[in-house]
Amino acid sequence: MIYTDTRDKSVKTDFRTAVVNGMNEKTGGLYIPVEFPKLSADLLNKTTEPSFRNIAFEMAKPYVEGEIPDADLEAIIHDAYPFTAPVVPVDKNSYVLELFHGPTCAFKDFGARFMARVMSYFNRNESSPLHILVATSGDTGSAVGSAFHNVPGLDVTILYPEGKVSELQEKQLSTFDGNVRALKVKGTFDDCQKLVKTAFTDNELRAKLRLSSANSINISRLLPQSFYYMYSSLCVRERAWGDTKIENPSIICIVPSGNFGNLTSGLIAKEMGAPITGFVAATNSNRTIPDWIATGEYNARPSVETWANAMDVGAPSNYERIAAMYSLEQVRSMFGSYWLDNDGIIKSVSDCYSKTGYTIDPHGAVGWKAWSDIKNGGFEALKNGEKNDPTKPGLTPNLPAWADDVINKKAVGIILETAHPAKFGSTVQQATGKSPAIPDRLEKVLSLPDRSIPMNNDYAQFKEWLLANLQG
Ligand SMILES: *Cc1c(COP(=O)(O)O)cnc(C)c1O
Repeated sequence: MIYTDTRDKSVKTDFRTAVVNGMNEKTGGLYIPVEFPKLSADLLNKTTEPSFRNIAFEMAKPYVEGEIPDADLEAIIHDAYPFTAPVVPVDKNSYVLELFHGPTCAFKDFGARFMARVMSYFNRNESSPLHILVATSGDTGSAVGSAFHNVPGLDVTILYPEGKVSELQEKQLSTFDGNVRALKVKGTFDDCQKLVKTAFTDNELRAKLRLSSANSINISRLLPQSFYYMYSSLCVRERAWGDTKIENPSIICIVPSGNFGNLTSGLIAKEMGAPITGFVAATNSNRTIPDWIATGEYNARPSVETWANAMDVGAPSNYERIAAMYSLEQVRSMFGSYWLDNDGIIKSVSDCYSKTGYTIDPHGAVGWKAWSDIKNGGFEALKNGEKNDPTKPGLTPNLPAWADDVINKKAVGIILETAHPAKFGSTVQQATGKSPAIPDRLEKVLSLPDRSIPMNNDYAQFKEWLLANLQG
């Protein structure tokens, strides 16, 4: 596969370069494949339940062609995904896609585990380790740390802001051993990010250590997220009649979004033939994308804090990819759009529980509420000329091409549940009155010793530590 650049279509490079570089330093653009080949008709038309790993292998294949042989790709997929993504019906026309069955209980495991194995593969003939530096505000650090833990040839240093992540998140970050460690920085997330960025531009340091990032803009984190869209839409197509008595429903994926990497992966799956009719972009008060869809103007802004904190992004990095792949009109025809304010998030966790019995986390709750409003008259009202104010929480005044499918009750929704509710236990308890049971893999972390290393927000100290402790 040839990869090009969102800012300069004359750029042509291979998968390895796109993965190792993360982004194109010369243009500031992001890498995208020049095409998204359709999956074979054989797989797309199968009427039996698909195998997640089989779909993953077949979808990944064209993107690594000529660079990773089939047998090695198969081993990578096998090792990355000992878990899958269950599709759970929650009411008569909605499913929840549970993306939290990986080791750190959030969907980021799907992307990070594939990326780690691909990087290890590309590093296999090097004599020195590749050092990954990653700044995190919470979920990304633990997914990356866990994905790279004990992966040969790779070494990870996580920086997180001391006192600014949840207790459980801190446990997940601070208890790694072996080739992964965390520095707790006396500063903010932005300070952590600045230390990492300074290290990347420090030539003296780079002459001694091979450095790379595990940023969410990396194409090797985006491609594997498309696997579960294909898998779940094929599953729902086969089982919808039995569950919903709707024949050949339009399948709508509702995606709680921050950086819009997850939703971009959904677009890739659709391009590759997944039976998905449309998407709902669901955000919290960080409504940069809903505003873009409503007004046609894209204005990045500082982020605001919410209960769905992994979606607190005011300048979503994958806007750049979406805008490179589609016109605004195409986006408006594919996307429903919705945003929910902070009180609405708690209320939605509570409403989802009382109406369906399903315990949803604060991120998934944004998606649940969006779909609930859309199918309970939201599109009808828009169609009847009601003018929603896009600066107020709720449905963006935009009717996608599939709006009538919802109005005519010919659509089913797949709500992406991006994290396990126990990761946000106190918020969920506040909303439902019940504390979600903690999965074993999270419980285990709670009893491990804290191995985090204190660090001042001081580049000289950080550099000195790296040179003294990392192997060149
Ligand atoms: C990262 C994250 C999101 C947002 O995903 P994007 O790809 O950045 O849009 C949503 N929910 C959870 C739990 C996350 O960790």
